[in-house]
Amino acid sequence: MPEGPEIFLAARAVHAAVAQQPSHLTLHYDKLVSKQRSLRGVPITRVHARSKAMLTEFANGVVLYSHNQLYGEWVVHSLDEPLLAKQVRLVVRTARHQVVLYSATDFAWLRAGREHEHPYIAKLGPEVLDAQVSAAQIAQRLAQFPRRVIADALLDQHVLAGLGNYLRADILLVARVHPLRTIAALSAAELLRIAKACKTLTQRSVQRAGVVRPWAAYQASRRAGLGYEAARFYAFDREGAPCWGCGTPIVRTTQGGRGLFYCAVCQT
Ligand SMILES: [Zn+2]
Repeated sequence: MPEGPEIFLAARAVHAAVAQQPSHLTLHYDKLVSKQRSLRGVPITRVHARSKAMLTEFANGVVLYSHNQLYGEWVVHSLDEPLLAKQVRLVVRTARHQVVLYSATDFAWLRAGREHEHPYIAKLGPEVLDAQVSAAQIAQRLAQFPRRVIADALLDQHVLAGLGNYLRADILLVARVHPLRTIAALSAAELLRIAKACKTLTQRSVQRAGVVRPWAAYQASRRAGLGYEAARFYAFDREGAPCWGCGTPIVRTTQGGRGLFYCAVCQT
C-alpha cells in the first residue's frame, strides 16, 4: 500500500498538471456523475494529500475527496498517450495533459473549509509531511498515547498521519528504539529522536523517490552492486541482511499483522 510520501508525490504531480489552468473534467463513475454539469468549466485550484486521501479543490468551493485504497491510481498522461486498461473514474484534460484517476471507489463531495467533517479526515492526527508540523509537536502527539506500542502507534493514522510500514521500521532504527516498547517507557530524548526521524525520513523519501537512507550512502550501496529496493531502506524488507550501522542481521517479526523489521543490537 502506498505510504504518505507516495501519495504526497502523486498529489504534487497532479497539482502541477491541472491546477490554475483551463481544464475539462469528465466524470465516469456512478457516484461522481451528478456533479458533471455544475463543474463544467470550473478550474481546479489545488490538489493536495491528507494522509492517504487526495483532495481536489475547485474554484467554486467544491472539493472532491478520493482515497486510492489498494488499487486506485492517479496517472498524468501526455495527450497522445493511450490510457491504461483499467477502470477510468475521472479524466482532467488540459492543453498538455490528461490526468486520469483509475479504479478508486472511495469518493465524497465536500465543501471547502469543511473537509475535516469527512469521517476519514476527522480522525487523522497531525500530518508528518506538513511543514507546519514540527518534530516537537510530533513528540508531544506520541506522548498522548502512553499505553501504545511505538511500532503500532506510528502506523495509526489517528496518532500521526502519513506514515506506513516501511517508514515505521526505518524511523525506529534511525531513532535506535526497539519497536515493541510502549510509549510510556520511552524517555523524552527517545521520543524526540523518533519525531525527528519521522520528519527527516518522510521528507527524504519525497525528495528522493522513495530512498529513505541518506543519498550518499544509498549511492555507495548502488555502486557496490545492490538494486534500488535493497539499497533504499535502513531496516524494512532487509531480513537477514546486515544492519548498515553494526553489521548484525536485520530481524523480521510480525506486529499487528504486518512485517516488522529491526536491528536487535542498535534498537534497545
Ligand atoms: Zn544495528
